Amino acid sequence: MPVLIADAPPVPPPPPEPSAETAGAETSGAKVRRIAITATLVAGPGVALGVAVPLLWGHGVHLQDLVIAVVLYAVTGHGITIGFHRLFTHRSFKANRTLKICLAAAGSMAIEGSLVSWVANHRRHHRYSDAPGDPHSPHQHPTSTFKGFVHAHVGWLFNHDATPTARYAADLLADDDLVAINRLFPLFAAVSLALPFGIGYALSGTLTAALSALLWAGIIRMTLLHHVTWSTNSICHLYGTRPYKTTDQSTNFAPLALVSMGENWHNLHHAYPSSARHGAGPHQLDSSASFIKLFEKAGWATKVHWPPPQQLAPLHP
Ligand SMILES: [Zn+2]
Ligand SMILES: [Zn+2]
Repeated sequence: MPVLIADAPPVPPPPPEPSAETAGAETSGAKVRRIAITATLVAGPGVALGVAVPLLWGHGVHLQDLVIAVVLYAVTGHGITIGFHRLFTHRSFKANRTLKICLAAAGSMAIEGSLVSWVANHRRHHRYSDAPGDPHSPHQHPTSTFKGFVHAHVGWLFNHDATPTARYAADLLADDDLVAINRLFPLFAAVSLALPFGIGYALSGTLTAALSALLWAGIIRMTLLHHVTWSTNSICHLYGTRPYKTTDQSTNFAPLALVSMGENWHNLHHAYPSSARHGAGPHQLDSSASFIKLFEKAGWATKVHWPPPQQLAPLHP
């Protein structure tokens, strides 16, 4: 039985005027720069893989590359899910200053855009969910699921549709720590790739090992996380189950639970955006919620929004 959960997200409500939801015109130079950077991030890893795999063929994948990749995937991924998404976008909990800075830095190292623009885009997604104004709804092409999927997954990144940050993320812009981390985004992106290169070199002492670590634990790790994050926008608004009644088309898509760190329980998330937990049932893996629980026990996270059990009980008898 679908249940609509009444939610009162602590995120400041977006201003009322529905017009001018984008940041305005851009110069032709800025347009070229924007498209070049986006294309490099979206298509670049595929090209790098095409060049690197034949070169490294026969050398195999080293265990140390995979270990570094898994660790960096988990750190940067949870930086996005716990930090950018549940803390900064939805205020699912309050973090002490150290945790706040660590999460903002870890999320920036995922190279999914700067903190403030990420949060502004996502708040706009929730405001318009699958209606005109949603920056990445797959339902903008009602006659073609394929076109809708491509738009929601990567196509929207190429649009000049920058969400006005002063309107959607004023609370972040009022925080000096977050403004500094937001400005340093290019540095965090560089560190995110330099780190595996440096660790690879430190562990093996050869340039080949350093490049191998950069490929697997830098570029491929980053690319996998990008596609998992984008899958929440595409797959989790097209395929899966809808146990909660919401006004959008959000879904729960179980196969992504582990790699998305709990973000795949997207239907619950849209029904109850400020919940620190997205996986409601006992078997709905949500590592992000587990870490928030640990942070709460350590005293680093307070005022955590856990879903009231009586609201979720009818769904999981
Ligand atoms: Zn959504
Ligand atoms: Zn959200």
